[in-house]
Amino acid sequence: MAQQILMKLSNGGCSSCDPPPAPGFSIGGSVGRGGRNLPEDVRTIQSALNGVCPADGGPILKLDVDGIVGPITIAAIEKYQKRQLGWSDGRVDPDGPTIHALSGQGGGQAAPAKAGPKAPPPKATAQQNAQFVERIGSLLPRARHWISMAQLNIDMASEYLRRSPAGRNDPLPSLHDIGRGQLALFDKYFHTHKEPTTTKLAQLQRAKRLYDSMTTVITHSLLQAPMFGWGVGYFQPDPADGTLAALDYVAYTFYGGWQARRPDGRPRLSGDDNYKGAKNLREDTIFFPVGQLLTKTDNFMLETIIHELAHFVGPGVRSPDRIGDHTYDTKANFLTVNNWTALHTAECYGYFAAESALRNAITIPIH
Ligand SMILES: [Zn+2]
Repeated sequence: MAQQILMKLSNGGCSSCDPPPAPGFSIGGSVGRGGRNLPEDVRTIQSALNGVCPADGGPILKLDVDGIVGPITIAAIEKYQKRQLGWSDGRVDPDGPTIHALSGQGGGQAAPAKAGPKAPPPKATAQQNAQFVERIGSLLPRARHWISMAQLNIDMASEYLRRSPAGRNDPLPSLHDIGRGQLALFDKYFHTHKEPTTTKLAQLQRAKRLYDSMTTVITHSLLQAPMFGWGVGYFQPDPADGTLAALDYVAYTFYGGWQARRPDGRPRLSGDDNYKGAKNLREDTIFFPVGQLLTKTDNFMLETIIHELAHFVGPGVRSPDRIGDHTYDTKANFLTVNNWTALHTAECYGYFAAESALRNAITIPIH
C-alpha cells in the first residue's frame, strides 16, 4: 500500500500527498511552456507534481496524469518553481534545476540536456550531497560566530576612537584603553593606522556592514535550507566538482552575487557576465567542490567561507568598490598592501574574523 504523508497547511487544513516518485527519475525532453512535451515525459512530471504537498509547491487539486500539457499543468510547474526555486518559467528541462528539485536529493540519473538548462544542475552524487550538507551545516554556525566576534571587535575599536583620553585625575585610566587592542587588530589586516580618526571610523563601519550582510546570508541559509533545492541555502556543491577540484579550487562565487538579479527578477547567471567557465551557474551562490571541502581543516574552511562571503555580499562586478583578490595569505605582501587594497581584499575580511575569534591561536596561512 502506498505510503501517505500528512501535511499541515499554513491555512490550518490538512492535506494528504501521494508518495513522492522514486528519486532519480528522468525525462527525455523538456516539459511545459515551449517544451517538447513527449506524452511519457509529461506524465512523469504530472505524477511527480502530484506527489508534492501543496505547502511545498504541489498542486492543490491533483493534476490529471494524461500526458497533455495545458494551462493547468504549466501553472502547476510555475507554482512549484516559485516555491522551490524562487523563480518560474513554466518549463521542466532534463537535467535542469526543477527536475533535480522534483526528483529529490541530487544524484538523479537525469538524461543529458537537449537544450541548455536554466541554472546549474547538481552534479554531486547523493552521498557527496549528504556529506556536503553535513559539513557546511556544521561550519556555518561557527562562521557566524567568527563574524560576530569581528563585529564586536569593530565596535570596541570604534568606541575606543570616540572616547576622550583619560584625564589626570581619572580613577580608572585603564578603562580608556578598552578597544585599543581591537583597533590594533583591525590595523593589522586593514592598515588604517596612518588615516585620520574620521576615516578610521568610516572604514570600521563599512567593514561592519559587510559583516552584517554575511550574517544575513548565513542565517537565511541555515533557516531556509535548501533554498535552491539541493545545498544549504546560498552554499552549494560545485556542479563541476571534478574539474575545479583538479584545479585546486576550494570555493568560488561572484562579485555581489547575493544581490545579482536580472530585470525580470531571476538570478543572474554566469553567462550574463562573460564568466570564462560554465555559462549556466547561478550567481547568487557560493560553490564548493565537495572533494576539497571534505579534506580541509575546520579553520581553513571557516576562513574560506568568510572570504567568499566578502566577494558575495560586496558590490557587483561593475563597481570599483567590489571586494577582490588583490592578495592572499600565501603571498609575501599579505600584511603590507596599502589601506585601500586591504579594504578591497576578501582575504583580509576572512583573517580579521579568524583572529577575532581565535585570538593568538591563529597562524598565517591558517590551517
Ligand atoms: Zn577570493
